[in-house]
Amino acid sequence: MEDRISRIIIVGGGSAGWLTAGVIAAEHCIEAQAQKPLELVLIESPDVPTIGVGEGTWPSMRATLQRVGLSETDFVRECDASFKQGTFFRDWHTGNGETYCHPFTVPVGYAETNLAPHWLALADAPQFADAVTPQTALFADCLAPKQITTPEYAFVVNYAYHLDAGKFAELLRRHCTEQLGVKHVKANVTQVNADESGDIQSVTTDSAGAVAGDLFIDCTGTNSLLLGEHFEIPFQSRQAYLFNDTALAAQVPYAEEDQAIQSCTHATAQTAGWIWDIGLPTRRGIGHVYSSAHISDDEAAAQLTAYIKATAGAQAAASVAPRKIAFAPGHRQKFWHRNCVAIGMSSGFIEPLEASALVMIELAAGMIADQMPPTRNVMDVVAKRYNQKFLRHWDQIIEFLKLHYVLSSREDSAYWQDNRAITSIPDKLSEQLSLWRYRSPWHPDAEAVDDLFPTASYQYILYGMGFRTMPPTTRSHQLAQRAATELFRKNTARAEQLQQALPSNRELLKKVNEFGFQTL
Ligand SMILES: Cc1cc2nc3c(=O)[nH]c(=O)nc-3n(C[C@H](O)[C@H](O)[C@H](O)COP(=O)(O)OP(=O)(O)OC[C@H]3O[C@@H](n4cnc5c(N)ncnc54)[C@H](O)[C@@H]3O)c2cc1C
Repeated sequence: MEDRISRIIIVGGGSAGWLTAGVIAAEHCIEAQAQKPLELVLIESPDVPTIGVGEGTWPSMRATLQRVGLSETDFVRECDASFKQGTFFRDWHTGNGETYCHPFTVPVGYAETNLAPHWLALADAPQFADAVTPQTALFADCLAPKQITTPEYAFVVNYAYHLDAGKFAELLRRHCTEQLGVKHVKANVTQVNADESGDIQSVTTDSAGAVAGDLFIDCTGTNSLLLGEHFEIPFQSRQAYLFNDTALAAQVPYAEEDQAIQSCTHATAQTAGWIWDIGLPTRRGIGHVYSSAHISDDEAAAQLTAYIKATAGAQAAASVAPRKIAFAPGHRQKFWHRNCVAIGMSSGFIEPLEASALVMIELAAGMIADQMPPTRNVMDVVAKRYNQKFLRHWDQIIEFLKLHYVLSSREDSAYWQDNRAITSIPDKLSEQLSLWRYRSPWHPDAEAVDDLFPTASYQYILYGMGFRTMPPTTRSHQLAQRAATELFRKNTARAEQLQQALPSNRELLKKVNEFGFQTL
């Protein structure tokens, strides 16, 4: 095969570059495993820093780490990682201190029974998530999703991670270069060189000469050096739907060494954005993401300081120096063009709500590894499918994130009012909301097997935010009544059982450091 793809060049060494390298190399570059191993080179600038945030993942990260070949014990120990079981929202609905949860476990019996209409009919119902999943009972006590005897990557309740992004990239770098045969070049790419067809032939670097390849993966962060700058693929702003464009990120020490580590990301709404609070074993990652059109940097910083003061004390609030990160919410019009595909911030970024960026990197790297075009000839076919799939994913991210804002009844600022303006709501979301007034979301609302957000996630946000669906009058609903009552009962019993059986996050992490998880 004359035009065989045999050499892949990744430019960029942040989470996107190293995760992509790991997933592709584990599949294609190990000589003993792949019949015709590919060569993979990662070029990373010694001067341009990584973005250094991105501390919340999805449960999909467990399968990705396993695929890359990392042990969970090593990962937890080396990335200052902890266990994340979902998100805990405060002040999103009215701003009066109310809370709700979006856990990673689907409602009990979800495959056969839609509990939402039955919950809506209950008098004195507990909160929706509490009624349908035992997982939220673990949030309050900062409990872990598994025991030390649970094997690596297996779970008692579904979970993801909180991690230190810098340590994560470093662990992946070591693993990729020492175990997976990835070649690491530390140099600045200064020029992109095309052949006569228009494909990229090589990139010129300042200290390692020209590096040639067959497929180029652009992981250069917001620079988007290859896809954006070289190929001039236009950037599509999505700020008309989701306004946040600035973040202040801080690292906050625990007041006491043995303080409880939260089991979920805390997301507390503010007057023009929201504050994330992520518990790692050695510190908390706390940041304020907001719309610069609706609040000044000084006011946003004051809200962040007030939050840190209230939750970590005056000393911590006085000692932190938040870092400002500006970003443009949106994505490239396409992601794979000719022999170049952009992954991570170079392809786009909306905002950190629901932590959807790292999972997009996992999905992108996974699709490339699974559908690696063997020749240049078929690359355009794969690229076309890739672009269609990822455009759909971006639309789904925008619709799902916007759901969190449109359901708010906060009146305390123009930000929340603007978020409810009909012109700021994607048409599809408006349609769905009108339908869900009469029928709860469930399996019929899934579009494809690889939808980014399961329909259960829509239920958690809708009913957590006080949305009401009219009670159904169908025969099948009446018939399911008894099964639903039994599922609610089982859920309460399971929650009590798990609260007794599971250790705290802090206890489990201590044991992982001491003994490690069982390997299978
Ligand atoms: C405020 C904020 C909070 C976030 N929180 C989350 C979260 O909780 N969960 C989540 O999933 N995601 C989150 N994200 C997104 C997440 O941080 C990124 O998706 C992730 O870190 C990947 O970044 P990256 O590797 O694409 O870019 P970067 O980290 O910016 O890496 C770019 C790389 O390209 C290299 N480079 C640039 N120019 C050149 C050149 N000329 N030559 C050679 N190399 C070059 C740089 O040296 C660097 O190695 C957040 C983002 C922001 C802004």
